[in-house]
Amino acid sequence: MQDTQILDPFELTDTQRSIRDMVRDFAQKVLEPKAVELDEKGAFSMDHFRQMAELGIAGIPVPEAYGGAGADTLSCILAVEEIAKVDGSMALTLGAHISLGTMPILDFGSEDLKRRYVPPNARGEVVGAYGLTEPGAGSDSAATATTATRVPGGWKINGSKLFMTNASVAGVMTITAATDKSKPKHERISAFVLESGWKGITVAKKEDKLGMRSSDTCYVTFEDVFVPEANLLGQEGHGFAYFMHILNGGRIGVGAIALGLAEGAFERAVAYAKQRKAFGKPIGAQQAIAFNIADMAVQIQAARHLIYHAARLKDTGRPYRKEGAMAKLFASEMAMRVTNEAIQILGGYGYMTEYHVERMYRDAKLCEIGEGTSEIQRIVISREFLGKL
Ligand SMILES: Cc1cc2nc3c(=O)[nH]c(=O)nc-3n(C[C@H](O)[C@H](O)[C@H](O)COP(=O)(O)OP(=O)(O)OC[C@H]3O[C@@H](n4cnc5c(N)ncnc54)[C@H](O)[C@@H]3O)c2cc1C
Repeated sequence: MQDTQILDPFELTDTQRSIRDMVRDFAQKVLEPKAVELDEKGAFSMDHFRQMAELGIAGIPVPEAYGGAGADTLSCILAVEEIAKVDGSMALTLGAHISLGTMPILDFGSEDLKRRYVPPNARGEVVGAYGLTEPGAGSDSAATATTATRVPGGWKINGSKLFMTNASVAGVMTITAATDKSKPKHERISAFVLESGWKGITVAKKEDKLGMRSSDTCYVTFEDVFVPEANLLGQEGHGFAYFMHILNGGRIGVGAIALGLAEGAFERAVAYAKQRKAFGKPIGAQQAIAFNIADMAVQIQAARHLIYHAARLKDTGRPYRKEGAMAKLFASEMAMRVTNEAIQILGGYGYMTEYHVERMYRDAKLCEIGEGTSEIQRIVISREFLGKL
């Protein structure tokens, strides 16, 4: 049954609110107490991922028939936002698992691929990853040098993928490879679903990073990896278009991570401004601090509107590419400003790891880079108005 009851200023439904509240409770009780330690160690927590899976979070937007919760995009966005408020790395892990590691198979896979790979991902028994970026192909992702060559019964893949989120803990990865170099750039790429234990797949390097330190980021190489014909995703030569479609949705999720990080830092800044006394009164009584809090709140609210709007467009089958890019661009740049101001409000304490806001500042930077840099978002948005000049 359609759940349409209007309950709060953002007109969330009962289902959306209950998912948000459940995830908020879990994030505060389970993720927050360990977030600083995991960040310091740069350690991914499979235990936390499994606990999220038990709550049904690993497959929120996946239909129940494929093992998911059958909820909408906005519910998924709310979950990612709540997790990012306390642990940006786990929000990135979940966002990548769902929107990059699972949705390509669900959206473009054959029934056979969907039945084999989506339910274990949606139940969180298997972690998903997605490989588009290469050493020589980032923003220019169509410059894919990884190749897939036809062999009896399937394909042989050779090449490498860079900065792949979740790769060392993933059971399944969807990657792109050039299948016909004689074709124009955007038509030569196909997508394949790989099981990470297959011969020839090597996690060659786990990256050490500025932020999102407890999310898993790897360089992965592929040497004569045999992929059966059935694991070609959709049609040959359509891989680039599929991945661009997936990124349009994924960007709303990155916006939600940025939003959650900003909110987490804002909540800490507000609490601190009320409690910290200087010159005989709370620092929040100083207009400089109070106005800063006001500006942070306005920016967060504006980002929330952009993100929820983009998610609703997707949920109602309307175009959302421009709106998703706008939401990601604004939210990620907003998160950099707000987390920076939060550190300033906490003064020297804000610079210390145990107060969380410096971690949120470091985590927020990723949102200006992953799933298309801010420059790429500006290209996507401006082309909607100017066309390709
Ligand atoms: C933590 C992390 C996790 C990631 N996870 C994944 C993942 O799971 N899967 C995956 O496939 N990728 C992943 N990425 C890769 C990410 O999507 C790329 O890093 C990003 O798209 C930028 O590509 P690049 O790093 O090659 O930078 P480049 O493309 O080399 O860009 C360098 C600079 O040039 C600018 N630039 C490039 N082209 C233009 C242009 N035409 N106009 C204006 N400016 C331009 C860029 O905006 C940037 O500032 C991840 C990255 C990080 C850091």
